[in-house]
Amino acid sequence: MIMIYENILSIEKSIPQDVKLIPVSKTKPQSMILEAYQEGQRVFAENKALELRDKHEALPKDIEWHFIGHLQTNKVKYIISYVSLIHSVDRLKILKEINKQAKANNRIVDCLLEFHIAEESSKIGWSIEEAMDLLASEGFQDLGNVRIVGVMGMATYTQDKEQIRREFSSLKSYFTQLKESYFPKEESFKEISMGMSGDYEIAIEEGSTMIRVGSKIFGSRS
Ligand SMILES: *Cc1c(COP(=O)(O)O)cnc(C)c1O
Repeated sequence: MIMIYENILSIEKSIPQDVKLIPVSKTKPQSMILEAYQEGQRVFAENKALELRDKHEALPKDIEWHFIGHLQTNKVKYIISYVSLIHSVDRLKILKEINKQAKANNRIVDCLLEFHIAEESSKIGWSIEEAMDLLASEGFQDLGNVRIVGVMGMATYTQDKEQIRREFSSLKSYFTQLKESYFPKEESFKEISMGMSGDYEIAIEEGSTMIRVGSKIFGSRS
């Protein structure tokens, strides 16, 4: 039997206190989440809207759910009334839809801008130029029901630790640029979500404030 909460505690003990550990429960059964919940764990992350909806419906309502996956516009409605942080805002269209649904739900929803930091492949996420354009645009000023509280990124899946370090370091520098240019007075703009099971130690050394850890807590996914 996997001792979920033990795993959470042992990671928490090994990281600085001001870095938040976000357990990623995607694909894992509700019973595993409940086991950790009963020991006191309240934050979990999922990457599929329908899976999150089903787990939210079935599990205790004081769980703080983070969304970390690619979000389709037609699925925002399934998570908008309760999601506490959306890490994966990777395009304007989804930001507008989150804003629209949040408004209909009388909420202001916290979001992170997902950056493309991997040196190879994958086109998901903003470049720093695109993000600067977004934040300077009039359209962005109209989005009163989303609050951008930081940035998120995923490093390349590689054994090359120096490459991973460079990629995380670039995300930190994007955060700093956006902070200085667009959020100098906003205390809420403070999160750098980077680091997973295989690379969170490097991420923390490069300035992560939030690590998203799945397999090292819940076991490998099939
Ligand atoms: C699955 C996932 C994680 C966790 O991955 P592990 O390697 O299992 O820790 C973190 N972030 C995102 C965006 C994910 O999809």
